[in-house]
Amino acid sequence: MATWIVGNWKMNGSVELLGELLPAIKAGLPENLGDVVVGVCPPFPYLIAAAGQVADSPIKLGAQNVYPASSGAYTGEISPEMLKGCGASVCIVGHSERRQLMGETDEFIASKLPALLAVGITPIFCVGETLEEREEGNHEAIVGGQVRAALKDLSAADAAKLVVAYEPVWAIGTGKTATPEQANSMHAFIRACLTELYGESTARAIPIQYGGSVNDGNAAELLGQPEIDGALVGGASLKAPAFLSIINQALT
Ligand code: PEP
Repeated sequence: MATWIVGNWKMNGSVELLGELLPAIKAGLPENLGDVVVGVCPPFPYLIAAAGQVADSPIKLGAQNVYPASSGAYTGEISPEMLKGCGASVCIVGHSERRQLMGETDEFIASKLPALLAVGITPIFCVGETLEEREEGNHEAIVGGQVRAALKDLSAADAAKLVVAYEPVWAIGTGKTATPEQANSMHAFIRACLTELYGESTARAIPIQYGGSVNDGNAAELLGQPEIDGALVGGASLKAPAFLSIINQALT
């Protein structure tokens, strides 16, 4: 199983930062990544320039969102084909910020998965519970519901092409990380849902990243958990030394 380390820049950065950050990440990458897959997801306007910068490196370029139609009257939206044309091979789908701030529903998120897969882009499908849902003991029901709702019409062959990211909402951007045990147990739960839907061999082929305040100080312990197959990194992906340290910790 590959270990996926992907940076989600969110709505951060600038043309200047792009010019500094990607060359620094590229220059600091370990020579041999082994089975570690590295990706960065800058904001849409920077994709083409970023594609040029990562072209001669193993870094995958990703987007943070997509609209599930090829073209048409969808002002302000971006199609899977456009992402592909800009050089993206990965796309975050269903991030909690989009669920909460933009009102994205399970059904809408579900429609983005086949749209991306149709053009060969790997979806990073995000799930996670809020603090209130966890405190009420509903975290498994909520996350299980998100998984089942988004994947209900996806074949096993397509599901095998996904990356899943478990991101407890209460740990995103808060500096409050899930304990390695809490994260591992939710990953095992998600794996059990995937097994129920697709059988064990497909479920075992789908990397499940953890996301939520991953940094250079906690990555090794989180990535050392048996059910954790990578990290989706927000804040710490905006600093080359921290992001490179997380990548290095994934190697060991
Ligand atoms: C994220 O953006 O997906 C994320 C996990 O952010 P942070 O690492 O800043 O908590």
